[in-house]
Amino acid sequence: TIGMLAIDKNGDIAGGCTTSGMGYKMAGRVGDSPIIGAGLFVDNEVGGATATGVGEEVVRTVGSFLIVELMRQGKSPQEACEEGVKRIMAKNEGRNDFQIGFIAINKQGETGGYCIQAGFSYRTYSEEGHIDNPSESYIS
Ligand code: ASP
Repeated sequence: TIGMLAIDKNGDIAGGCTTSGMGYKMAGRVGDSPIIGAGLFVDNEVGGATATGVGEEVVRTVGSFLIVELMRQGKSPQEACEEGVKRIMAKNEGRNDFQIGFIAINKQGETGGYCIQAGFSYRTYSEEGHIDNPSESYIS
């Protein structure tokens, strides 16, 4: 999945995501990306989040909605992404042999990202160009 979140000079937030789905998926499978709340969710009063990885797990936790609700309760985008990933791991007996990743942004323009396993990274950009290259943040 490729997920993008944006905030403009007025503090308005938008998001989008796209995916080819999982490799060797069953015909007719619907992943998390086309389901609002699962692969992507934006609440312009709070922030936005988007997911990548095993869509079935993201759908089960309504993952992107969860991240936004955690931010609504006061967590930073980074804390919210970490909690979301850990909740999915907990539902899978602590397993870490599958990929799940979230990125998030809040109304202040703060960002965060977290995943199970290495190989996930995200970038932040501003009007002036590339401003940040957060280090990979993951459970291995
Ligand atoms: N989340 C996608 C899906 O489950 C897979 C991906 O990360 O591209 O369909």
